[in-house]
Amino acid sequence: MTPQRDGTTAGRDGGASRVLVLNSGSSSVKYQLIDMTDGSRPAAGLVERIGERTSSLHHTPADGEPRTVERPFTDHGEALTAVADELAADGTGLDSPQLAAIGHRVVHGGRRFTDPTVVDEEVLAEIERLVPLAPLHNPANLTGIRTARALNPGLPQVAVFDTAFHTTVPEYAARYAVDVETADRHQVRRYGFHGTSHAYVSRRTARLLGREPEDVNVIVLHLGNGASASAVAGGRCVETSMGLTPLEGLVMGTRSGDLDPAVILHLHRVAGMDIDAIDELLNKRSGLVGLCGDNDMREIRRRIDAGEAPGAVDRGGEDAARARLAFDAYTHRLRKYIGAYCAVLGRVDAVAFTAGVGENSAEVRAAAIGGLEQLGLEIDPALNAARSREPRVVSPEYARTAVAVVPTDEELEIAAQTYRLVAGEPGTATGGT
Ligand code: ADP
Repeated sequence: MTPQRDGTTAGRDGGASRVLVLNSGSSSVKYQLIDMTDGSRPAAGLVERIGERTSSLHHTPADGEPRTVERPFTDHGEALTAVADELAADGTGLDSPQLAAIGHRVVHGGRRFTDPTVVDEEVLAEIERLVPLAPLHNPANLTGIRTARALNPGLPQVAVFDTAFHTTVPEYAARYAVDVETADRHQVRRYGFHGTSHAYVSRRTARLLGREPEDVNVIVLHLGNGASASAVAGGRCVETSMGLTPLEGLVMGTRSGDLDPAVILHLHRVAGMDIDAIDELLNKRSGLVGLCGDNDMREIRRRIDAGEAPGAVDRGGEDAARARLAFDAYTHRLRKYIGAYCAVLGRVDAVAFTAGVGENSAEVRAAAIGGLEQLGLEIDPALNAARSREPRVVSPEYARTAVAVVPTDEELEIAAQTYRLVAGEPGTATGGT
């Protein structure tokens, strides 16, 4: 096999060269079939609202019309069986000789899983043991793996963990400063998430700069509905903003990110809220939605622009002011993290923006980088405003540190890691190289 520049790998003598990537969420399954010879996607799709009467499957083959199956899928088993049927109808079923493996996104790998891992009974038991750390995600991931195994027991299944890229964070950064025995007994430490995206984007950024990942220090800002930052030194993650759970760090769509832990004690003791109510508040009704009622950055910008437009006196007021507050809180937190990670890394070669907000919002990028000239960070307004799906640099040529927009591709990263493992290549991830 020959590793290709886009991170895919040439198949063995035209043999099994495809990986099915499965991302099983609590009520959904997303999938992509990726051909590692050229990175093409023969099929992709999504099953939504599993367990509800209105569930549906949307299947998009590369060489045909998209299809929708609308019927109740009562559990992940039924949903995955239907996905397998759709793939089989295209001649790309789970028994296809072209299929090398299935790569599963698994949210929590704890401290044990530092690399992609071929699934066996022992691995399943270990992922099960980690359920208390990711009670919503790991059970869905496990069901996905078990169903896929049942559908084709001979096919290698590989677990690719969201936490794995962050297992290189040094102990002094991964530990909370709480009693060591209590923390260890309950597996309390900072794990970090979105690891496949941080891995992919940091490597892809190095390539954009024409350098090797080992030679560059990158700050990656993954800004989707969930949002996280990471500091990557020479290809190894040394700091990341999410912690024991994905609640810590940046302001997100519906999550608060950082707060004084005593806020929780206060809400419990003084406001009389129980733990479940506080959990729901901080995860579902905080962040952008908590500050202004919207979690979509497009809508927040629309409200700001409408309210701040000349003559828009009546439409503005409270509506625009709250949207502005949410935007400013979001970008202020980003600037704090960028500054902190400059200090962590010492030398920064690039700051890379990725995911829905990072890839699309020129305003967020400009506000996050604005005023950081002393740190060598600047944005070129024209480059920043230009729309593109390609990785690109948006800082002026003279800037000491590049600011880049690098679309993430977690599916390709999972497929590349999976394929490298089952094809016997060295176990380093290659999606972003
Ligand atoms: P996730 O995978 O975490 O669900 P995405 O990476 O798809 O999320 O990001 C979704 C978010 O991206 C949306 O909530 C929205 O705020 C933001 N977004 C998408 N398109 C744009 C755009 N053109 N401008 C600003 N924000 C956008």
